[in-house]
Amino acid sequence: MSVRLLIFVIALACFSETSSAQGAPSPSPRPVAIPTGITDPAAATRAWLDTIPPDEKARSDAYFEGGYWLILWNFLLTAAIALLILTTRLSTRIRDVAARLTKFRPIQAGIYAIGFALITGILSFPLNFYEGFVREHQYGMSNQIFWAWFSESLNALEIAVVILAISLAILYRIFQATERTWWIWGTVFGIILITIGNIAAPVLIEPIFNKYTPLTDPKIRDPILDLARANQIPATQVFVVDQSRQTKRVSANVSGLAGTTRIALNDNLLNQCTLPEIREVMAHEMGHYVLNHGAKGTAFLSIFIFVGFGLAAIIFNRVIGKRGSAWGVTGIADPAGFPLLMLIFATYGFVLTPISNTIGRNIEREADAFAINAAREPDAAAMVALKLGKYRKLEPSPLEEFIFFDHPSGRSRIRMAMDWKAAQLPCGEVK
Ligand SMILES: [Zn+2]
Repeated sequence: MSVRLLIFVIALACFSETSSAQGAPSPSPRPVAIPTGITDPAAATRAWLDTIPPDEKARSDAYFEGGYWLILWNFLLTAAIALLILTTRLSTRIRDVAARLTKFRPIQAGIYAIGFALITGILSFPLNFYEGFVREHQYGMSNQIFWAWFSESLNALEIAVVILAISLAILYRIFQATERTWWIWGTVFGIILITIGNIAAPVLIEPIFNKYTPLTDPKIRDPILDLARANQIPATQVFVVDQSRQTKRVSANVSGLAGTTRIALNDNLLNQCTLPEIREVMAHEMGHYVLNHGAKGTAFLSIFIFVGFGLAAIIFNRVIGKRGSAWGVTGIADPAGFPLLMLIFATYGFVLTPISNTIGRNIEREADAFAINAAREPDAAAMVALKLGKYRKLEPSPLEEFIFFDHPSGRSRIRMAMDWKAAQLPCGEVK
């Protein structure tokens, strides 16, 4: 999604992802003899994994491995767009048009952002179309018709344009006011932006794309609220999101601050999973909430942004010293230099992929551990891991898992569940 890369700092907010545990469609039960009282977790894990037919596995491997390349293509495309806009002086032309329209400099940066976002949105459309529409249909992950997808993409672009315009107006006002310390104030602004994004996205942005309705079926709702109550989550309602319009993946989240806490699950999860599986997924999401993963993610991102701006402070002035006159960019306070800033952050983010994935994977592992103790459904945890395996490689090599996996692999998740099951923890008065 190159549009997201445009607003890189905002895109980072997606890290917190309102903690979605996406899964895949698979109503098919897997009636296999998994021993109930297990003593060998490794063998039990193998037995679960062997329930997936080889052709299904090959298909999911191909889908997931395609994603490795997409990381590279997205980065190269972003870099190419940044360099194209700079070297053709398109960037300075947009800035000059903005300067003719108004004398007020922050508004100039806002107008620049609109031109920049539109050009970038158009240039990155082919890859977004392939990634978000063609590929999803090729692998049976979506039934959405083209026009529905296209109009939602336009909506997303509009939102990105508005956010980018406001952000650049403020950011360039900061850069113009702080000569040497711009990178420190840029960091502060980035952190504030992420925090606002985390709080506002579930409330303001998500309802633009999907409808939230209260879940009324007590057979599903009450066990979810029981789990919430047992884990000190102040929610009295569960919402269903109509995401089957866009995708076949299952997802859920627990979001908001005290008083606005909201538990939501999508209709795919409701329709494709059994109650034990739903409890397991919801317990995972509750784990993110109870373990403060939103704050933890923001803390990691803050460090990431701080180091990124530190690098930018070193690299930006050097590059502009050499190329500034050819590109028509005068310095950091000149909005026409924004593509260079984006290029620096995109490169840094790309190089850091294994690190950010490892941080994300460890956070997800914590939520898994929380879930298995809260829901106490090791077999359902294994089933959910297999369903996720529809579009995530189930058995990657350790190096692959380290570099590319932002969630533990199916094998790791099933192994955790089987370790838990083999431990046969006493349950006290539970029965
Ligand atoms: Zn998660």
